[in-house]
Amino acid sequence: MIRYIFITGGVVSSLGKGIASAALGALLQSRGYGVRLRKLDPYLNVDPGTMSPRQHGEVYVTDDGAETDLDLGHYERFTGVSARQSDNITTGRIYSRIIEKERRGDYLGATIQVIPHVTNEIKDFVLSDPGEGVDFVLCEIGGTVGDIEGLPFFEAIRQLGQELGPERTCFIHLTLLPYIPAAGEMKTKPTQHSVKELRSIGIQPQILLCRCDRPIPENEKGKIASFCNVRPSSVIEARDVRHIYDVPLAYHAEGLDQEVLRHFAINDAPAPDLSGWDRIAQMIHNPDGEVCIGLVGKYTDVPDAYKSVAEALSHGGVANNVKVTVRLINSEEFDDDSRPLDILEGVHGIILPGGFGERGAHGKIRASRFARERQVPCFGICYGMQMSVIEVARNLAGLKDANTTENDRKTPHPLVGLMEEWTKGNEKVIRDENTDKGGTMRLGAYPARLKKGSRVADVYGANEISERHRHRYEVNAAYIPELEKHGVVFSGLSPDGTLPEIFEIPDHPWFIGVQFHPELKSRPFEPHPLFASFIAAAVKQSRLV
Ligand code: GLN
Repeated sequence: MIRYIFITGGVVSSLGKGIASAALGALLQSRGYGVRLRKLDPYLNVDPGTMSPRQHGEVYVTDDGAETDLDLGHYERFTGVSARQSDNITTGRIYSRIIEKERRGDYLGATIQVIPHVTNEIKDFVLSDPGEGVDFVLCEIGGTVGDIEGLPFFEAIRQLGQELGPERTCFIHLTLLPYIPAAGEMKTKPTQHSVKELRSIGIQPQILLCRCDRPIPENEKGKIASFCNVRPSSVIEARDVRHIYDVPLAYHAEGLDQEVLRHFAINDAPAPDLSGWDRIAQMIHNPDGEVCIGLVGKYTDVPDAYKSVAEALSHGGVANNVKVTVRLINSEEFDDDSRPLDILEGVHGIILPGGFGERGAHGKIRASRFARERQVPCFGICYGMQMSVIEVARNLAGLKDANTTENDRKTPHPLVGLMEEWTKGNEKVIRDENTDKGGTMRLGAYPARLKKGSRVADVYGANEISERHRHRYEVNAAYIPELEKHGVVFSGLSPDGTLPEIFEIPDHPWFIGVQFHPELKSRPFEPHPLFASFIAAAVKQSRLV
């Protein structure tokens, strides 16, 4: 029997519902249960693929090629369960499905309405194929209770609560208990109001997860319990912690998983094995040294834009028992050649993350050259790799105007371009783009073959890998022979040999560029080998400078 746990949010956004859901998933797993986590996003985009990272942070990509909300990244990192396309849905996708059915005549003349048609689609999504061995499906509802666009989602989960009964459904509400310094008190009123709002749409939460920056006094817990109609033991203190990987342990200490099991009247649950989380917390809080990595990207004012990269770097730190500090460096600041690169002095490694478009591209090229010439470990990811390849073409192979056709359609040396440009010709592709939006993205998991004896083959300890992609442009394989004359090696190719996936500079402490996004598959318990190896090189570098 599968049970469903719904996680809603109140009072304000950004309380960390995604991490709370992921942490509860990890706690249930630690007791031997199978979990699947899902996110219901009330916004109107069909998926977040077209959204700027400035809006919702990074776009997380699954193995099966879905562009999803970044919370799915938290779910994967905390539970190790690979997310799928079917784990994230938006209002936009639901409506587009309904309208498609309506146009096909599937509704046989009925009037299509929010209730029941939209709510039924949402319920179908929640109940659809959870996968093998799943005991609990955890569904996080995006946004905050009271948002107009969230109403159909709340109505759908209310109905599920009714249909499946309390023995199969549990509602957890995440709220905020602000401390008001002038009053010297923690305030419960916003939580009371938020729960009232939830109850007015027919949902009585059974567990309250209360974010706060200090302990909740017992009498306040009692007050919240009685005003919000929950058991006092179900008012769970969710106090700020130092690191997100402390959250599962902290919530367990406050009794979250015990309360969930109690709600479901599960009395024979195995005791949790949290030794893995203890080990991670130990390593994170007792590092043996520190390295500083410069992340040179365009969205440095929105740290969530590089969430998975930052997490993967910290996993690399766990693998090497060091703390990794990330210095966010805005690549646009060195688009102008007259601007010095002194901010890169002293970093122990440079990471060039993914990106799109012209702004900041030249800055990345300059940072890549700095890393190559100054022998600083450098890791180029997707756009970052493309910029490194262009840098090598321009400055080592003498192909002066080498570029990506993303930024210069007429470049005489299209080092990076669209596959169709090579088969159909550039002019034809430009014409096609005016009618539809051009080449499609390569999305999701693709295999690559690694060259025997290369650094990457050694790092992975394998000859064949699978990694997740999200890009439209490719490095142009026609230039491989020319570039390889100048000290770089294309050490990873698509299995048919046509698409460069990885390049490296053997005569350098650590210089690897990858066309895919390895950060998406890194997990605290399984740091990605490239990130572990990159941080190991940064540790060496830190001993030199
Ligand atoms: N803009 C590049 C492309 O579309 C790189 C994308 C990325 O870094 N994710 O190929």
